[in-house]
Amino acid sequence: MNAPTEVDVVVIGGGATGAGVLRDLAMRGVSALLLERGDFASGTSGRYHGLLHSGARYVESDPISARHCIEENAVLRRIAPATIEPTGGYFVATPDDPDDYLDRFPAACAAAGIEAEPVQLDDLFRAEPLLNREIRAAYRVPDASLEPWELVDANLASAREHGAEAWRYRAVIGFERSTDGAVTAVRVRDERSGEEAMIACRAVVSAAGAWAGKVAALAGAALAMSPGKGSMLIFNRRMTTAVVNRLAPPGDGDILVPVHTVCILGTTDITVPDPDDAHVTRDEVDALLRDGERLVPGISNARVLRAYAGSRPLYDTSDLGEQQHDESREISRAHHVIDHGSREGINGFWSIVGGKLTTYRLMARDTVDAVAVSLGVDSPCRTADEPLPPPATGTPYWLGDRLAGLEAEGGGNAELVCECELVTQRRLDHALDERGDSSLDDLRRTTRLGMGPCQGAFCMPRAAALLDARGEGAANASLRGFMAERFRGTRSIAWGDQLAELWLTAGIFRGTLAVGDLADTPPRVSGVGHAAR
Ligand SMILES: Cc1cc2nc3c(=O)[nH]c(=O)nc-3n(C[C@H](O)[C@H](O)[C@H](O)COP(=O)(O)OP(=O)(O)OC[C@H]3O[C@@H](n4cnc5c(N)ncnc54)[C@H](O)[C@@H]3O)c2cc1C
Repeated sequence: MNAPTEVDVVVIGGGATGAGVLRDLAMRGVSALLLERGDFASGTSGRYHGLLHSGARYVESDPISARHCIEENAVLRRIAPATIEPTGGYFVATPDDPDDYLDRFPAACAAAGIEAEPVQLDDLFRAEPLLNREIRAAYRVPDASLEPWELVDANLASAREHGAEAWRYRAVIGFERSTDGAVTAVRVRDERSGEEAMIACRAVVSAAGAWAGKVAALAGAALAMSPGKGSMLIFNRRMTTAVVNRLAPPGDGDILVPVHTVCILGTTDITVPDPDDAHVTRDEVDALLRDGERLVPGISNARVLRAYAGSRPLYDTSDLGEQQHDESREISRAHHVIDHGSREGINGFWSIVGGKLTTYRLMARDTVDAVAVSLGVDSPCRTADEPLPPPATGTPYWLGDRLAGLEAEGGGNAELVCECELVTQRRLDHALDERGDSSLDDLRRTTRLGMGPCQGAFCMPRAAALLDARGEGAANASLRGFMAERFRGTRSIAWGDQLAELWLTAGIFRGTLAVGDLADTPPRVSGVGHAAR
């Protein structure tokens, strides 16, 4: 294993929070190494709803979180414009939404510092013709669509520029502690080779999201996480140009987010014992479609490409002596920095839990402020001042970005590997050069390969051939792994046109290419034995 054997701080978890913590530490001159058990942003950060919150969703239920969201919304637009599509958002009152909530909403937004501008219904329906014509009031808020993978990559790139390192497929499996209880090292396992190593450190930050309770247990700490599983449906086209939220207390199926060429309806919220439970049930799909009908009548007949779920990193604050919550939705989305030294004598160990993807930078700042004091570092946080490097810099994302890029390179389709998402061979080569050994599923995260309407049926064989031609290891296993993961996401929504598409895909893969038993292949497969960053 090629990792450094000693650093100041080990960061556990390569989602948005961990990447933000790594960048903040590095910018303050602290030597740091991030360890992620899978691919970067393959946890909740890569399985969320895609919304840069304005905070308006939480103005009543969670005002602290609402204020954090609007402040960070402004910061991210400044430091990471290219990861954001400034779609704007509407809060709309359907006939099923409560009058008193509608009455209180403008004042609650004003109190949280969120601009909520009333919209004439004629203007709303002109802009969003598919919305329910029985909507009786609407407000415009600064919601937006946010691309998580580019945001995480940009934070890691910035951290590396400042001297930090980040390693994928490295799971932390144990802690070493001194006789006085302080953390002195972590034990790490290379998930691809099985090799193990110790990394000495002065401090550890667990940014393991919904898995933070499991990581804390490895150090002998107790952390009561309450993972909230949320399921979402991806449709094959955008049904609105802006984010649309129900004007009601947070519930199921009440937000529609346009993301690149598709749109995502979500979410459910079910407390689950295991954050790895990403299984979407048919009942959840039915409930989402039923609720979605209130926003877009006829949405149940639209083509669903895929269902997926993520685990909210919710912290059960009854742990802090606060009131116990029966429902996942009642738990605050605000974040908590937990110092296991002052709490249970495990010096040098912090967990950062709760929060939203929108507030990842603030979560990182609060964590690093605490860690810096213990390390005797007094440099201030600069992450809100310095823009992130590519791919997050530039102008805000717009839907025509990729087509414009392709045309600027001469147009045509000779180099196209994925027609749905306009991924060229050059883009794949670049991603492989940047990231080293990668599975097709890893490439999907960095490039959106296979995420469009065909869900990989046509582009995956081409991409696998490309991997093979580059000698990138297990292209066939990677192909099986990718398709198994795609099939997992379509099982609960296999009807109508999408079922026909599945038959076609199965025919191509099983019949023509004889790619084996797709459904039984483990989802996360990558080349074995290659060094990876
Ligand atoms: C359904 C749903 C919808 C959401 N929608 C939104 C939204 O629209 N907008 C928004 O702002 N927020 C949203 N959120 C919340 C947001 O997604 C999360 O708060 C955020 O992504 C959490 O990021 P994180 O980095 O803390 O956790 P994660 O992204 O989960 O990262 C933690 C990482 O730790 C790794 N890890 C775990 N154990 C180990 C170990 N032992 N060793 C090494 N690595 C380990 C995991 O693999 C994982 O990658 C949503 C959440 C859910 C579930």
